[in-house]
Amino acid sequence: MTRPRPSRRGFVKTAAAGVGACLFPLPLLAQGSQPRMVVIGGGFAGATAARFLKRADPRLDVTLVEPNPVFAACPFSNEVIAGLRDMRVQLFGYDRIAADGVAVVHQAATAVDGKARSVTLGNGTKLNYERLVMAPGSDPRFDALPGYDQAAAERMPHAWKAGEQTLLLRRQLEAMEDGGTVVMTLPALPYRCPPASYERASLIAHYLKTRKPRSKLVVLDAKDTFSMQRLFENAWQEFYPNLEWVPVSSGGNPTGVDTAAMTVSSDFDTYKAAVANVIPPQKAGRIAQLAGTADRTGWCPVDPVTFESRIVPGIHVLGDAAIAGAVPKSAFAANAAAKICAAAVARLVRGETPASPKFVNTCYSLAAPDYGFSVAGVYQPVSGQWLEVEGAGGVSPVDAPRAFRSQEAKFANGWFNTITSEIFG
Ligand SMILES: Cc1cc2nc3c(=O)[nH]c(=O)nc-3n(C[C@H](O)[C@H](O)[C@H](O)COP(=O)(O)OP(=O)(O)OC[C@H]3O[C@@H](n4cnc5c(N)ncnc54)[C@H](O)[C@@H]3O)c2cc1C
Repeated sequence: MTRPRPSRRGFVKTAAAGVGACLFPLPLLAQGSQPRMVVIGGGFAGATAARFLKRADPRLDVTLVEPNPVFAACPFSNEVIAGLRDMRVQLFGYDRIAADGVAVVHQAATAVDGKARSVTLGNGTKLNYERLVMAPGSDPRFDALPGYDQAAAERMPHAWKAGEQTLLLRRQLEAMEDGGTVVMTLPALPYRCPPASYERASLIAHYLKTRKPRSKLVVLDAKDTFSMQRLFENAWQEFYPNLEWVPVSSGGNPTGVDTAAMTVSSDFDTYKAAVANVIPPQKAGRIAQLAGTADRTGWCPVDPVTFESRIVPGIHVLGDAAIAGAVPKSAFAANAAAKICAAAVARLVRGETPASPKFVNTCYSLAAPDYGFSVAGVYQPVSGQWLEVEGAGGVSPVDAPRAFRSQEAKFANGWFNTITSEIFG
């Protein structure tokens, strides 16, 4: 899986001897070498980046480092939780990426030395790189909500990473007696895909309404406003009298949990939960912290054109882990940004200037199985940060007929199938 490569230092020394008096190293590809690109994380951002780096220039030696042989996708995992979808359709392997010529190594990256330009893997192997793309997603902050640590997540799942956590929450809802209260907590921004938390509230409310009609859902929220709010609230009013949303101004801010007592506290109250879904505050995946690319916010500041870290040169940070201005932390944006980054890195390696990018993000949400809506935005770098292009995006109309919502639910499905087959198919 891994091949021994000359170290970067060794390579630079050889190259310098070859060019004699030339003070500026020639672009690596011009020197006939196969520069090594390492990508950490085989999710929406990293898997896209690995594939598109190889496509951007087949001469690049691309290694994708990802511990899991199967990727579990978060989009549509709320449907799994609500019993509307099978988990198996959320799972994707890496064979097609490997078939494209990417070396796929199923190990976790445990350390990054930005100065020596090397990545250490769980099995002790070291990979040298010319450029590193880091896309480890986001991690729960287990120090942020009193009582909520890794062990608590086994009792009160976050299900904010798809896989075992998704199935755990699903099983808990199934096992709950009719008449119980489900409590959800939602953190303040920024976190992975905020609209997905309101989608989850809707779909859990749908499950309760159809399968456990004497039960109710209480959503404790550290916010007063959120994206597509009127669309969600209208749907809740129409479909879910069993859903109580408590915003921060009404005392909804989650302040702690007690897993032994199965209680969740907010600014004003303590709620007894039959099932608790705690979505905690988040930060960039741990390896981003270890590599020194995260700042005091826990997220990674990047240059908007190349996604190169503003802290550690030679490392490009993508997806949820990056601070990308107005760009949302979504799979759609992670995939788009990864293509931009792959093209930019290929140009940098060739000694060319990366093109100034622009991209679209669309987030679909389901408020019921056949009832969807969306928000779209166009983004471009302005004065060193990603801003939304005014007037270019939009939200689904509030007063659209039911057929329109049904059509948007189909578009959502279509988007998921397209993006996952582009990345993994
Ligand atoms: C319930 C839910 C619903 C969502 N719905 C949508 C939606 O409808 N549309 C949308 O656009 N977005 C949606 N999202 C958001 C989307 O899932 C994320 O924004 C997206 O997954 C981010 O991509 P990423 O590559 O940054 O992280 P991920 O996709 O999480 O990938 C990170 C990868 O890095 C790997 N990794 C971590 N650490 C290491 C390490 N040390 N070494 C090697 N590999 C490592 C992980 O194993 C993982 O495979 C949803 C999220 C949730 C939680």
